[in-house]
Amino acid sequence: MNKQPKLTLVGAGPGDPELITLKAVRVLEEADVVLYDALANEELLAHAKNAEKIFVGKRRGMHKFIQEKIHDLIVSHALKGKHVVRLKGGDPFIFGRGSEELKFVISKGIEIDIVPGVTSAIAAPASFGISLTQRGVNESFRVITGTRSDLKLSEDIEAAASSNTTIVILMGMSKLESIVGKFIAKGKNHIPVAIVENGTKKEEQLAVGTIETILELVKEKKLSNPAIIVVGETVKESEVLYQQLLNQKGKVL
Ligand code: SAH
Repeated sequence: MNKQPKLTLVGAGPGDPELITLKAVRVLEEADVVLYDALANEELLAHAKNAEKIFVGKRRGMHKFIQEKIHDLIVSHALKGKHVVRLKGGDPFIFGRGSEELKFVISKGIEIDIVPGVTSAIAAPASFGISLTQRGVNESFRVITGTRSDLKLSEDIEAAASSNTTIVILMGMSKLESIVGKFIAKGKNHIPVAIVENGTKKEEQLAVGTIETILELVKEKKLSNPAIIVVGETVKESEVLYQQLLNQKGKVL
């Protein structure tokens, strides 16, 4: 029997397939169709035993699925009386265009639901013991995209660089040189920086340095996307924790 058309937007978590919520797993089990991105761990699709699985991300030189095509796929499947799950990496509302997809399907009279996810902005640093707040060190953290929709560097980075906040930058690796330049222009050469590539996944990598040394470290370790850049004194304060975790994993910085 056909169900009520429905879209559930689901956060897939940062990468580790266990870092997904129980609710997300239940929704995947009940799904008829799952549309998933490159950042959603494919192992999670095993939960969606009865669903048609459609990849709608960008991968290995393939053209990016245009957003309108994704909207059309969601609506056409839902209107056949199916429960469509849109599985997105991390939390779907953090630089995930989740709200755009929901607004579109609402305009077609389709029911919606949302299952929040564990965002990589917090989980990738946390998995290496890097705490975004620290008592007596900072009073806030700020999550900023490195790359705006017009592909320019976000001006928020320069503004945040003037304050004491911990700065977490997503989609920033291709702009790292300009980001470093913004801090150097404010004389903040010695602020600690951590970069977590593929956080919470088997291939995770960590680099820790300062504004002055980070470009060299990235080159040495060949770090690239997906990665989270954390800039702030809390990185230094977390040294005991990340050293311990690296030791336990038999890794070195
Ligand atoms: N909605 C997602 C973010 C999407 S934007 C979330 O909440 O996590 C894509 C960016 O997220 C990437 O460019 C990278 O900066 C970051 N990212 C996603 N998964 C990551 C991971 N496992 N490790 C490091 N960075 C990650």
